[in-house]
Amino acid sequence: MITVGHFINGQMTNEGERTQDVYNPSTGEVSKQVALASKTTVEQAISAAQAAFPAWRNTPPIKRARVMFKFKDLLEKNAEKIIALIGEEHGKITHDAAGELQRGIENVEYACGAPELLKGEHSKNVAQNVDSWSEFQPLGVVAGITPFNFPAMVPLWMYPMAIVCGNCFILKPSERDPSSTLLIASLLKEAGLPDGVMNVVNGDKEAVDTLLNDERIKAVSFVGSTPIAEYIYTTASANGKRCQALGGAKNHAIVMPDADMDNAVAQLLGAAFGSSGERCMALSVAVAVGDTAADLLVSKMQEAMKSLKIGPCHDADNDFGPVITKQHQHKVFGFIDSAEQQGANIVVDGRNPSISGYEDGFYVGGTLIDDVTPEMDSYKAEIFGPVLQVVRVDTMQAAMDLINDHEYGNGTCIFTRDGEAARYFSDNIQVGMVGINIPLPVPVAYHSFGGWKRSLFGDLHAYGPDAVRFYTKRKTITQRWPSAGVREGALFSMPTMS
Ligand code: NAD
Repeated sequence: MITVGHFINGQMTNEGERTQDVYNPSTGEVSKQVALASKTTVEQAISAAQAAFPAWRNTPPIKRARVMFKFKDLLEKNAEKIIALIGEEHGKITHDAAGELQRGIENVEYACGAPELLKGEHSKNVAQNVDSWSEFQPLGVVAGITPFNFPAMVPLWMYPMAIVCGNCFILKPSERDPSSTLLIASLLKEAGLPDGVMNVVNGDKEAVDTLLNDERIKAVSFVGSTPIAEYIYTTASANGKRCQALGGAKNHAIVMPDADMDNAVAQLLGAAFGSSGERCMALSVAVAVGDTAADLLVSKMQEAMKSLKIGPCHDADNDFGPVITKQHQHKVFGFIDSAEQQGANIVVDGRNPSISGYEDGFYVGGTLIDDVTPEMDSYKAEIFGPVLQVVRVDTMQAAMDLINDHEYGNGTCIFTRDGEAARYFSDNIQVGMVGINIPLPVPVAYHSFGGWKRSLFGDLHAYGPDAVRFYTKRKTITQRWPSAGVREGALFSMPTMS
């Protein structure tokens, strides 16, 4: 059986210490093993990155960007292979995996603009014959720790920008679907990236803790669940590292009485069930304003869900595939059970999916739950499965209060035809990414991505302009070249322009 190893100093290695099973969620079979890096292996990667840093730091940004141009080309040429690997280990349907990869490639395109992004700021004559400028210098060796649900895209949020800013990178991807991430990183070598600038270590907590505790790591980007995000942020910050840690979510859509209901149902269907609900931007709660809107929404949604196609990743006719593991499948079933026990109404029940020929796969059928209330466990927690819950409220303000009171603040959306209501909503909602008749408002690569409240620990969002700030430190230089023979006397007061 194949063991997925590491990519360190330009070489694929496989230390062969501890390993863990990697599943094909569509069939339920173990397909590979993944090596779990020891402290020593992670330290080797950090040493390789540290050794590569001086030369990479001094490589002109245009040359760093040229590597990214070639990398983009290689990603496109290898797209079919990458998409197949995502499907095999994550279970994502081919068209969804292609969308993930494309979104990742757009981050590489943004990184190609490095010379422009790193231009800095300049002021001539801040005082007589004195010029001042700010420049953005790389931090050194930085690390990324990523989740299973976007094995290609989320790492691509991080290392293209970190690398074009002049840093060297250690990526610790999810151990549950490691192969596409490893293949993609190895393409950087083919694109001309010097050995040691980019390294991938597969592993678990031992690898993560080594990165968090090694003083050579200057910054950590994390994406994953909120409890781990909080741990990463607290530990990295206590160890003096810059850290951004993006966590979990519970994304609500408000459905107003004036919404185009057919459109709202179609948008919600894709955003709640696409990728089996395993997206941090999945819309998992519909808040219907008024019983008339709620009844219409539930009946139309119930009807629309009859056409949902669920099955293995390679069948492009399917709308979504399995969830990541058997354990996670049972966790999602458990949330549906608890909603039922706590008084909600299971309108469409996905607890007994029957996928002919794939009986051992980790499937959960699309589930619709009505009459959910904020006290229920299924409402409070992030389910991360194909489950849409409907909460009924009387007013738009009550819907907004519900969203603002939730611990998470990643994404949200309003379906309405009323511009004034939409504007009030986007102005006042306590959530980082807002859609108006847009169900998945994932910012494009030249904006930045991040939630509020317990969906993000740290100040700067992921990718886009915030990534330039996160992966660099500002240095401000003030300069005077005195004319020959001109000498300034000692100045004991604070220098001013007066
Ligand atoms: P996870 O938190 O279990 O794992 C994320 C990473 O942390 C993995 O690399 C994993 O190996 C590592 N990890 C896990 N337990 C650890 C521990 N005890 N100590 C140190 N490291 C540990 O998340 P997941 O299940 O892979 O991904 C799903 C979660 O990610 C969901 O909560 C989802 O909302 C979130 N997510 C958030 C965003 C965002 O942008 N906010 C994007 C994608 C996913």
